[in-house]
Amino acid sequence: MSEELAGGCSEDQGPAPTVRVAVVGAGPSGIYCAQLLVERAAGPIEVDVFDRLPAPFGLVRYGVAPDHPRIASIGDSLGEAFENSAVRFLGNIEIGRDLTVEELRASYDAVVLATGAPNDRRLGIPGEDLVGAHPVGEFVSWYQGHPDAAVNDFGLESARRAVIIGMGNVALDAARMLLLPPEFLSTTNVPDRVLDGFQAGDVREVTIVGRRGPAHAKFTNKELLQLFESETWDLLIDPAELVLSEEEQVFVDTTPTAARLMKTFEKIAERGALGRPKSIRFLFRCTPKEMIGNGRVEAVVFETAGPQVERPALAADLVLSSVGFRGEPLDGVPFDHAAGTIPSVDSRVNGMGRVYVTGWIKRGPSGVVGSNRVCAMETAASVLSDREMMGDRATESPRADRRAEIDALLMSRGVRTVEWMEWQAIDRVERLAGTARGSVRVKMQERGAMLAAADRGGDGSGAEKVASE
Ligand code: NAP
Repeated sequence: MSEELAGGCSEDQGPAPTVRVAVVGAGPSGIYCAQLLVERAAGPIEVDVFDRLPAPFGLVRYGVAPDHPRIASIGDSLGEAFENSAVRFLGNIEIGRDLTVEELRASYDAVVLATGAPNDRRLGIPGEDLVGAHPVGEFVSWYQGHPDAAVNDFGLESARRAVIIGMGNVALDAARMLLLPPEFLSTTNVPDRVLDGFQAGDVREVTIVGRRGPAHAKFTNKELLQLFESETWDLLIDPAELVLSEEEQVFVDTTPTAARLMKTFEKIAERGALGRPKSIRFLFRCTPKEMIGNGRVEAVVFETAGPQVERPALAADLVLSSVGFRGEPLDGVPFDHAAGTIPSVDSRVNGMGRVYVTGWIKRGPSGVVGSNRVCAMETAASVLSDREMMGDRATESPRADRRAEIDALLMSRGVRTVEWMEWQAIDRVERLAGTARGSVRVKMQERGAMLAAADRGGDGSGAEKVASE
C-alpha cells in the first residue's frame, strides 16, 4: 500500500478519527467503491451506501438480462460488502428528495456519487413519441421489474415486427427478450406480470439497425455468438452488408474486437435462413430520420449510406431505440449535459470539495460490470489520498453517535429506510417465489410489496409469513 493510502496518524497525534463516507448508489460501482474503501483505509472507516430503491445491486439486478443468470449472480458477491459492520445499506432513500447532497457533505467526511446512467438517450427525430415507440430503458425497466417502471404495456400481443435502433449489448438483450419462449422465461427471475405480458406476445421478426457498418457494431462477440448459437430464431445478414470500405477494413485490421465480430458476422451470413418461425436480422448504415404512423408507430424511415438498395422505410409494430444512456443531474452538483455525466478530475467532482464520482455517472455508460471495479479503484484512491484533509474534519465522537446523526434526520422526515437485514427478508421472499416457479427467484416489482416484506421479515423471521399470505 502506498504511503498516501496508508494515511493514518503518528503516535503523538493520538488515534486516527473514524472517517465517514457516504456512497450514493448501491449498484456495482458504489458497492465496489465501499468495499475498496474499507479494505484499503489505513485507519477506522465507516461507509453508508444509499440507494433510492429498497433493493441493492443497481444494474446487476435491474440491467443484466434475465437469461444471463451467471452475471446476475455477481449480486451474491457484491452483497458480501454488507457483511462487514463498517458498511451499511440504506435503501429506499433518494438523495435529492429525502436528503440533499449538501446534508450528506455536512454529515460525512466524503461523499461518493455512484448514481449510474438511468436515463435513455433520445434520438431527437420526429415521431419518437408515437404509441409503440419506446426508448429501450422503458422496456428494460418493465421486464426487469423495476419499481419505477413507467410503462407496463408494450402492445406485445399485437406486435409481429419489432425494430431496434442501435447496435450495443442492450439492443441484443432486448431482441432476445422479445423472442425467447415464455416457457424459458418462466425459469428466469422476471415478475409474474411480465411473464404474462410475454406469454400474450407474438413478436416474430426483430430487425436491429445500426447507423454505421458492421465493423463498428458496439456489442461484444460473446453476445453475438449467443444469438448465433440459439435455436430459437434465424439470424440473418445480407452478405452484401459485410462489404467494407477501405477505411472500415483498416479499422478491422487494427482492432481485434472488430475482427472477431466480422468473423462471426460472416458465419451468420454464410449460414443464412434455416426456416425457423422467428428471426433476428441486422441492417447496417441506416440512420433513423423519422418514425411514421397514424397515432401508433407503423414504420421507421432511414437515410442509408451503404451500397445496398434503398430502404426508405422499415415497417414496425414496435420500435425500441437503444442508443445509450445518460446520468441524472443532482441538485447542487455540476453536470455535463452533453455527456450526461458529472464532470470530475481523478474522480474529484469539479468545484466540490470532498465529493467524488465513480461508475457510469463518472465515465458514461461503457464497459462490463467488472469495469466498475477498476473505476472504483481510482475513486477510492482519491478519497483515501485526500484523507489528511478530511482528518481535520473528522470528529472523534463515538461511532454510534455519528451514525445516529443521519438516522435522526431521516426519521424526522418520516423516511422509511430499508437496511441490509430487511433487504435480506425481501430476498428470501423472492427466492421462495422462485422455488414455486422453478427459478432462482421471482422479482417483486411493487415498492409497497417490497416494503411489506421488509416490515415483516426485518427480524429474520417473516419470509415464510409473507410467502404464505
Ligand atoms: P452502446 O454500446 O454505447 O451502444 C449504443 C448504440 O447506439 C451504438 O450502436 C451507437 O452507434 C448507437 N447510437 C447512438 N446514437 C445513435 C443515433 N443518434 N442514431 C442511431 N444510432 C445511435 O450502449 P448500450 O447498448 O446501451 O450499452 C451500454 C453499456 O452496457 C455498454 O458498455 C455495454 O457493453 C454494456 N452492456 C453489457 C452487457 C453484457 O455484457 N452482456 C449487456 C448490456 C449492456 P454508434 O456506435 O454509431 O455511436
